[in-house]
Amino acid sequence: MADTSLDMREPAVAKGLETAQFPFDNSYARLPDRFFAKLSPTPVKAPELIRLNDVLARHLGLDPVVLAGPEGVQMLAGNLVPEGAAPLAMAYAGHQFGNWVPQLGDGRAILLGEVIDRDGVRRDIQLKGAGRTPFSRGGDGRAALGPVLREYIVSEAMAALGIPTTRALAAVTTGEHIWREVPEQGAVLTRVAGSHVRIGTFEFFANKGDPEGVRALADYVIARHYPEVAGAEQPYLALLEAVIARVADLVAQWLMVGFIHGVLNTDNMSIAGETIDYGPCAFMDVYHPGTVYSSIDRNGRYAYANQPRIAHWNLSRLAGALLPLFGSDDDAAVAMAQAALDGFPAAFEAAYLAGLRRKLGLFEPHNGDAALAQALLERMAENKADFTLTFRRLSDAAGEGADGDAGMRSLFDDPAAFDGWAVQWRARLALEAATPADRRTAMRAANPAFIPRNHRVQAVITAAQAGDFSVLDEMMAVLAKPYDDQPQFAIYAQPPKPDEVVHQTFCGT
Ligand code: AMP
Ligand code: MG
Repeated sequence: MADTSLDMREPAVAKGLETAQFPFDNSYARLPDRFFAKLSPTPVKAPELIRLNDVLARHLGLDPVVLAGPEGVQMLAGNLVPEGAAPLAMAYAGHQFGNWVPQLGDGRAILLGEVIDRDGVRRDIQLKGAGRTPFSRGGDGRAALGPVLREYIVSEAMAALGIPTTRALAAVTTGEHIWREVPEQGAVLTRVAGSHVRIGTFEFFANKGDPEGVRALADYVIARHYPEVAGAEQPYLALLEAVIARVADLVAQWLMVGFIHGVLNTDNMSIAGETIDYGPCAFMDVYHPGTVYSSIDRNGRYAYANQPRIAHWNLSRLAGALLPLFGSDDDAAVAMAQAALDGFPAAFEAAYLAGLRRKLGLFEPHNGDAALAQALLERMAENKADFTLTFRRLSDAAGEGADGDAGMRSLFDDPAAFDGWAVQWRARLALEAATPADRRTAMRAANPAFIPRNHRVQAVITAAQAGDFSVLDEMMAVLAKPYDDQPQFAIYAQPPKPDEVVHQTFCGT
């Protein structure tokens, strides 16, 4: 569809509200015009608040009571553009499943602007599902209730787990139906991010033969996310190295909690190292490195254990886009980029092994730790052990002798597979002076009891589609404290029963 089909009804501007003022301070909107298309959200019929993230609102300097009130809800739906906003859709490109797509862009998201949070960090406020933009191509610019809730739940769960991520400030229903395979309720998510700059944003300008665009974007990203590299001898190379380090760390953290992003295209990889664009994402129940949930990932490109390799591939696309900034000697520029990229596997392995040590209760590095961890993972895969429960129960087994192993053993098809490994593990623990109690405490802080299990996410969505949001509220309360036992909510820690297993997840876009 052409731009002319955009609904250009003008939303009202919220003037003079006492407390609902977003303290906007917009920097992206001051970049050159070719970075975005300026336009307002398209109003919706009858917005209703599903959920507001009070804690996050306060952290952003916003009054949650006003945001949840009538005018706040109009803003969260895109019907009322708050004063000081500079609404725009960002331009970007990307590699989708390895294939180059020269123009993607925000096809259904509109950046309202930026606010500085209580920690002094600049945060984007974006409405996802806010209507068509010049980047919508054939899409309707809208989001369905199910995917909005999935992103709300999983992004907030990630934040509570301590993993860098975009956040969810609010979700509203629009009172409109949108057409997917079947009619669905429309919804808008208010997303908060360190920024929405992606690897694909760099690729967009590089592919257009616009090195000045690449440079302006790199300068912007350095100022906003990596000020420490500004003084480096080669700031753009230092930027690449810094992004590589953050992404290596991020992907290692995903693997530690069994997270599978599902669509790790270059346009879905944040330059700030945050988890972004939650689509058909999922947490593994039974451990297997080849696990794939996304219905569109037919070849397992984005399978659980492929994520580091894919991140490395994506980073090489970033390096390619930055090349013109590495100097006029092409061969030297390529050599610098290659050297930076070659650092990824070691950076990832170091973060991954450090994470596994924490999960196993090992305070000091010893040779053989990687093999010990690998041996457990192999036995888990062979015996269809639940990833999250295995490590959580291992934390409890750490304080005991083999008497405490009953809960662990029952997770393995063949409990003897655990026994054999546990002998090696206990011999390794004995090399350290840490007390069992300290070890158990440390392990419980590295091995969550609660993750957003797929069947529970699905149950929330099913209830919400029938108008019941109480299941969402309960689940969000549980996921806010993933490392606490919360015995009254033990059911949320349980793997799915055979008839509850979710085998596939969908983008729903
Ligand atoms: P995603 O798979 O959600 O990361 O989206 C990939 C691209 O498709 C981005 O450019 C999105 O803005 C665009 N897109 C996804 N869903 C829609 C939609 N319903 N309407 C318009 N554009 C969309
Ligand atoms: Mg995306």
